[in-house]
Amino acid sequence: MKRAYKLEIKPTDRQSEKLIRTFGVCRYVYNMYIATNRFNYEEGRNYQKNIVNVLVKTKPTFITLEDLNVRGMMKNRHLSKAIAKQGFFHFRTKLQMKCEEYGIELRLVNRFYTSSKLCSCCGHKKVDLTLKNRVYECVNCHAVLDRDLNASINLKQATQYELLVSV
Ligand SMILES: [Zn+2]
Repeated sequence: MKRAYKLEIKPTDRQSEKLIRTFGVCRYVYNMYIATNRFNYEEGRNYQKNIVNVLVKTKPTFITLEDLNVRGMMKNRHLSKAIAKQGFFHFRTKLQMKCEEYGIELRLVNRFYTSSKLCSCCGHKKVDLTLKNRVYECVNCHAVLDRDLNASINLKQATQYELLVSV
């Protein structure tokens, strides 16, 4: 059980001056924190907007998105910040709107598709891949490539997907 205790303090003039100053500092830090967060939020939005624009301007025939398990990832505290900042859902909505506008097919691959674990060259599945492995090394065909690039190629080659935008 938690209990609250109330205490009365009777500071001297010098102490109360110090207390006021301390709370002033706290407030300053707090406001700065809010301002920084707001800035990051706005920047994040701008960043997403730019990425979406760059993507659609290359006029691809289709774009494949991976349905990330955002809720599951949030549980991983190392990832939660990055994920929250990325605002995946906002990004997805924005991208969908632009694809409709430009007539680009938008595919959504199921979250159970192991895009990171499969070898994009031979299809071998690497079961012991961790987030630390930034480079994908295939034990079967000995292909070596960047983890994200490997996953991207797999997504491009995916044959099972939901159509978010069909053209
Ligand atoms: Zn391979």
